[in-house]
Amino acid sequence: MKKQTLTILGATGTIGVNTLDVVARHPERFEVFALTGATQVDKLFQQCLQFRPRYAVMTGAQAAAALGEKLRSAGSATEVLAGSAALIEVSTAPEVSTLMAAIVGAAGLPATIAAARAGKRILLANKETLVVSGQLFMDAVHENGAELFPIDSEHSAIHQSLPAGFNGDLDAAGVKILWLTASGGPFRTWSRKQMENVTPEQAVAHPNWVMGRKISVDSASMMNKGLEVIEARWLFNAQADRIRVLVHPQSIIHSMVEYRDGSVMAQLGTPDMRTPIAYALGFPERIDAGVSGLELMGSQLQFEAPDMQRFPCLQLAFDALKAGGYAPAVLNAANEVAVDAFLNRRCGFADIPRAIAHALALLPASSPDGLDDLLEADRRARDQAGEFLAAKATV
Ligand code: NAD
Ligand code: MG
Repeated sequence: MKKQTLTILGATGTIGVNTLDVVARHPERFEVFALTGATQVDKLFQQCLQFRPRYAVMTGAQAAAALGEKLRSAGSATEVLAGSAALIEVSTAPEVSTLMAAIVGAAGLPATIAAARAGKRILLANKETLVVSGQLFMDAVHENGAELFPIDSEHSAIHQSLPAGFNGDLDAAGVKILWLTASGGPFRTWSRKQMENVTPEQAVAHPNWVMGRKISVDSASMMNKGLEVIEARWLFNAQADRIRVLVHPQSIIHSMVEYRDGSVMAQLGTPDMRTPIAYALGFPERIDAGVSGLELMGSQLQFEAPDMQRFPCLQLAFDALKAGGYAPAVLNAANEVAVDAFLNRRCGFADIPRAIAHALALLPASSPDGLDDLLEADRRARDQAGEFLAAKATV
């Protein structure tokens, strides 16, 4: 068996750590070429000792120097690089067969697109890449013979529930609706008023999943589901009216595909990201993921409609998808700024959709022409959302 050679962007994050957990179970299948992280020097150091990558990348020069020093003292041969150009280098190097794109936010976009242009096998956790640059990214995948596997549990479930070899034509496959399930997050049963005063600690305490802080807040606001709707639009070439959201608090059914003949195919499992990660790493084979079996005996599965009034972020995402053009990139950028402000106690939870709506109201009328245009809109939307929140804070 030819080994896959992996670069893992965001190795120190939740998805990165889960990926390395699966990789460590299959030394005969995978070798690690590069691991990257933003700030956690000690964590990346330990990972380098265990997985012996050729390269490690830290975002900042200082952190990179500190990591290099530690690795040299430990006698490690891993070479340390710094900065965003290095992220692109280790994602596109000829030795690399497979990229795990698990940086959080639009920061993951340049290296992920570069890997698509280099025709790599891409395991995509970084949903923001598809939200910001869906058409461009999918074009890069198709034009360069790249392979794309979703890591998001919902999209992995849909991938598994579609016919093998699905070619992007839902009609030809007999598909009526893609059903994305949503846990509803920690505030599923809370009133709008109760949600005005929630703390970051309450927002990141997800009932079913352990995740990074940003995506945890997105789950609490249901923006995560909104970003996933846009992600599904691009991954499966589905128009907005074919994508529906169903709240399913137990997170056992990870998503479903409804066919023309009335059949509904679903994928179920214990909520553990190692399942979609192992599915993508091993495809087309099924490999051990270390996940405990699903215990259905005695459990109950519930389903509810999503409430767009209490979770306006979900409505904003559907609106942005329908508007197209710059809207999804602006939605994403304003959300990143607002979530960061909320996590750092510079705004309230209910200010997140307000800041996004503010940025979306200032959308340029023109259509984006390429990646630079989208990145410029991303920068502008960050400024606009930031100014909006700063003005609110001083009132
Ligand atoms: P996390 O916060 O735990 O980890 C983020 C990783 O990205 C870290 O390694 C961090 O060092 C790196 N990073 C952060 N900012 C960076 C920057 N500016 N430049 C370079 N690197 C940077 O997040 P996570 O939960 O692992 O999520 C990662 C991605 O996967 C997100 O896009 C998220 O939406 C997606 N995702 C996560 C889960 C989950 O269960 N955690 C599920 C589905 C999708
Ligand atoms: Mg998900």
